Amino acid sequence: MAAVTSTGSVTSAPRTGATGSGPSELTDRPNKRRAGEVAGGLAVAESRPQVVDGLLRGARCSRCAHPSAQPDVPWCPVCFGPVEECGFDPEGVVWAATTVHLPVGRWAAPFGLAYIDVDDGPRVLVHVAHDPLPRGGDRVGFGITDDGDLAQHGVGDGQNGDPR
Ligand SMILES: [Zn+2]
Repeated sequence: MAAVTSTGSVTSAPRTGATGSGPSELTDRPNKRRAGEVAGGLAVAESRPQVVDGLLRGARCSRCAHPSAQPDVPWCPVCFGPVEECGFDPEGVVWAATTVHLPVGRWAAPFGLAYIDVDDGPRVLVHVAHDPLPRGGDRVGFGITDDGDLAQHGVGDGQNGDPR
C-alpha cells in the first residue's frame, strides 16, 4: 500500500538519481538521436535544399537524368547510376499548395507551403504567400531566406507569414 502522511498526501518512493541531478534532459545512454552541436553533440548535416549564387544546388543522374535537390547523394536513387552536381534555376510550377494554420518555428500562422516542380529539375517544398495561395500550375520563383528556408520571392522577408 502507498504510504499516507498525516496531512493526507501520498508519498512515493524517492527517486534514486536515475534521471541525473543536473538540469539537462540528456543522458549518457546511447540512442539513435543526435543532439546536434548546439547541445554538445555532433554536427547535423543541413538537410534543406540550398540556393547558392542564384541556383538551386542539386545533382542529376548521368544515366537516367533523374534530378535531385541533394547535391551530395552518392548515387542515383532511381537507377543507382553515377550523379553529377549541378544547379537549377530556382523557379517552376506549383504542383500542390496549402495553408498551414499552426505556427512552426519562426513562421507565424497562417503561412503557405507549396511543392514546386522546378523547371527541368526536382520537386522542392517552398514557403509561399498564403493570401492568395498560389494554385496548381502557377509559376513561382523562389530564393532562400537568411534562416535557410526556401521561400517565394517576397515571402519570409517580414511581409508575409514571418513574425519578424
Ligand atoms: Zn538514374
